Amino acid sequence: MEQKSLSNALGQEVLILNPEYKIRMDKDNRVILAHVLPYEFQKGWVIHPGVGFILSLFDGNHTETEVWEIVRYVGGLTDNQLQGLIKKLRTWQHRIPQLLIPISQVPMSRRYRKTRIDYEKLKRFLILPSQVKLDEPHRFYSPLVIVLLPTYRCFADCIYCYAERRKIHSELPLGRIKEIIDEAAELKVFHFSLSGGDPFMRADILEILRHMVYRGFDTTPSTKKPLSWQMVNNLADIGISSVQVSLDTCDPLLADVMTRSREYLKHATQTIRRLLKVGIDARVNAVITSFNIRYIDELCKYLLDLGVTAINLSRYSRSAYRHSDLLFVNDEDIKILQEKVEQIRHRYPDAHITMNYELTKSYYEGRERAWKERVKCSAGTEGMVIAPDGKVVLCEQLPTIGDSVVGDITTQSISEIWHSDRLLSLIYPPREKFKGTVCFDCEDFEVCHQGKGRCIRDAFRAYGTIFAPSPLCPRAPIGLRLF
Ligand code: SF4
Ligand code: SF4
Repeated sequence: MEQKSLSNALGQEVLILNPEYKIRMDKDNRVILAHVLPYEFQKGWVIHPGVGFILSLFDGNHTETEVWEIVRYVGGLTDNQLQGLIKKLRTWQHRIPQLLIPISQVPMSRRYRKTRIDYEKLKRFLILPSQVKLDEPHRFYSPLVIVLLPTYRCFADCIYCYAERRKIHSELPLGRIKEIIDEAAELKVFHFSLSGGDPFMRADILEILRHMVYRGFDTTPSTKKPLSWQMVNNLADIGISSVQVSLDTCDPLLADVMTRSREYLKHATQTIRRLLKVGIDARVNAVITSFNIRYIDELCKYLLDLGVTAINLSRYSRSAYRHSDLLFVNDEDIKILQEKVEQIRHRYPDAHITMNYELTKSYYEGRERAWKERVKCSAGTEGMVIAPDGKVVLCEQLPTIGDSVVGDITTQSISEIWHSDRLLSLIYPPREKFKGTVCFDCEDFEVCHQGKGRCIRDAFRAYGTIFAPSPLCPRAPIGLRLF
């Protein structure tokens, strides 16, 4: 292909890999592409290293034509081979429409720094398709996501609290937390987030956040604690771009009842205003329970008028630690709320309102299909959770004592825990552990655990043990109601 026709075909626009996507090399020539938002890890794909190599060249320093010229040069490719690669990339651009975007859409602070490309090093990514087996089951060499619970302490005491809030002797010291963040950065963990408890109850929270930002983790801390002017200014100075505030209602009395604290609405509103004033995005998370479902649309309008642009509404589901059946909402009310939210979306077209819910009826009646189509369980295959005292579990809401503990970060590294027999024996557990359950005699036991897995969090919530079927499995008995 002549230089001229390549330029004509591809144009001179400078495209950049959308900063919401990250790439890293794993083992066995596999490359992982992941969609990571500041507040959560969305999805990961295993891709061919050649595609990863090409994507990494879209660093905002080259036009598309230049990128393909580099690829041609590094790979010593013929025109046909180059066209084949362009086609492959177009398939990915079709699958993920915002994967490559014009550089003008990315603020300076999120652009990649200009570095000299070492073409010799890049050659190792150009390998034959037969040298990489993308379809074989594969466990990542290190976690993609780590959630750290820096404390179980909290400013509020919510009626639906999901945190275990076990009494512990001492929380991980700042020095050890920094080492964990360092190791996570070296292992190229895509997303490192804080949950809890309320991370802002720690006196050293600014140091923790500063270190996370320094090591390249784009984090959205969440809080129920009122944040002072000094705190929001410090957060802005560190480079925190968004904070999640929990608020379930704009009725002042109900807000106090739900959080079991005083003047919660006033404090949360003040925090949101302060965050917005210093240029930090205030996101809001609300839990939909029978107590507040009728006021959720009012809450959305209240928040949008304040200037909040992202609201996440989650249907209450059984808390393993503080549950009451009174909190459940019914499917009919959820459907009515869904319609109201739709109307609000029309009125505020720029608002980003997400609603997470499953309908109880379809969950149980549609298990056959839902089980086949379930998303692969990421516990221990993509991520892990570190409790305030260093105990490590595979998923949030699993107890950090007993069978579900896979390691202790006070004496082990992330890598040691990730590759430990203890962790592997929870993802691929022995059949004997399931005596007395349908899993014990299940002919699909191996397929189930080697494949998409079963949700151990829901097993625990529905049957009180992690060695039980997922309640979504059509073979499972109906356990405790989850939502
Ligand atoms: S969850 Fe269902 S498919 Fe999986 S092992 Fe248990 S019974 Fe079998
Ligand atoms: S245990 Fe359940 S909630 Fe946790 S990652 Fe697996 S499927 Fe998701």
